[in-house]
Amino acid sequence: MLVLSRTLWLAQTNSYVLASETGGPAVIVDAPPDPAPLVDLLTANDLTAVALLLTHGHVDHMGGSGELAGDTGARVYVHPDDDFLTENPEQQLRMLFGMVPPGKYHAPADRIDLIDGETLQLAGFDIDVVQTPGHTPGHCCFRIAAEGILLSGDQLFAGSIGRTDLPGGSLEALAESMRKRVMTLPDDTRVLPGHGPETTIGQERLTNPFRELWG
Ligand SMILES: [Zn+2]
Ligand SMILES: [Zn+2]
Repeated sequence: MLVLSRTLWLAQTNSYVLASETGGPAVIVDAPPDPAPLVDLLTANDLTAVALLLTHGHVDHMGGSGELAGDTGARVYVHPDDDFLTENPEQQLRMLFGMVPPGKYHAPADRIDLIDGETLQLAGFDIDVVQTPGHTPGHCCFRIAAEGILLSGDQLFAGSIGRTDLPGGSLEALAESMRKRVMTLPDDTRVLPGHGPETTIGQERLTNPFRELWG
């Protein structure tokens, strides 16, 4: 399996490209603004993006999704509980930065609603949609059980957790998502987060400074 990534935009957001092999179909997870390096990555590996999965509607994960969908033809999937975010990238930017930094921020015109518990069959992978409210209400992690991989978005990071002080955030909900949906996974699950380096469930179970939240 190919796991390629680029860290993009002001927020240093990780975007991932997953494929079985070069020359085939691929799934992209998250689309920061200014996503051109992702198009280059696809081209360099002769990959065709069939789907763009968004972990949540924050602009640093979604702001490039309209452009990336237009450039690649990938269909965009995001949970409807985050529509209030997905549909208002410029409002989010004003709240975060007090201004709209120069750039293009487009939600995709056509979106497919993610459903908690469904398994998407994309690019040869079975991808389980695991809704994990807390960072945002519609936040979803994506699990590829056969590969032992969890794309954790802004739910879980190496040595940290997602912030819960933004609109729709809830520390209580995040802790419950962790207890019931994330920390139930096997220790050797490889965690690919939305920011920072990769980790494993076992590593975070042992050392994450917030582990009392789910312990
Ligand atoms: Zn976020
Ligand atoms: Zn983020």
